[in-house]
Amino acid sequence: MNIKFLGAHNCESQDTRLLSLVIDDSLVLDAGGLTSSLSFSAQQKLKAILLTHHHYDHVRDIPAIAMNFYLSGATINIYSTLPVYQVLAAYLLDGKLYPNFLERPQENPTIKFNVIEPYKPVQIEDYSVLAIPVNLSIPAVGYQVTSSNGKVVFYTGDTGPGLNACWQQVSPQLLIIEVTAPNRYEEFGRESGHLTPSLLKQELITFRELKGYLPQVVTVHMNPLLEKEIEVEIASVAKDLDSPITLGYEGMQLHL
Ligand SMILES: [Zn+2]
Repeated sequence: MNIKFLGAHNCESQDTRLLSLVIDDSLVLDAGGLTSSLSFSAQQKLKAILLTHHHYDHVRDIPAIAMNFYLSGATINIYSTLPVYQVLAAYLLDGKLYPNFLERPQENPTIKFNVIEPYKPVQIEDYSVLAIPVNLSIPAVGYQVTSSNGKVVFYTGDTGPGLNACWQQVSPQLLIIEVTAPNRYEEFGRESGHLTPSLLKQELITFRELKGYLPQVVTVHMNPLLEKEIEVEIASVAKDLDSPITLGYEGMQLHL
């Protein structure tokens, strides 16, 4: 399993992109910084896009990728839970901002939307995909993706603390988890549903108690303006837990 980090931050600039990961050049997790990171030919190889929740920084490039597929006569599969689909259909893909790619072209619409249910594994291409609810202010899930040769990654999307129930459902070798802000923003994190390094530490301690191990951990969704501070604090968490935790970045590639 090859995992490319197209966008690893919560704010966009010339140096940072919004959240988007791609597995084996075919399965996309969130579509924040998708199109600007891939050539047209790389885009055409994509088979499916999984969306964790409907916030703009995770769904922004859906209309853009759909236009590219539409113009080349191809189709793309998108997967999410029902609440995410309902918001996208009502506000982003309703035909006002841009064409309604859920219905155009009439004979073979560009977007094939698939609503999935939490806790029910679905087979998508060569992967078993499991959506597990996380703790955000709106409905949100993380995705566990298991390859045909048994490699397992869990991507949380955006989440606040309190992942005990989530951890019970997953057993990843690689955990890609959000850490939005440094420790002094803990109150903000608890209120808005985001993690800081110290909140992450508590979640990882719980994980280890439950599962008896810690996976390799890569953080995403960092606020670029606060990243230096986050980096120092993450290093301290990794040292305390005696386990590797690294910050994700645009262009990062991991092999499982
Ligand atoms: Zn976000």
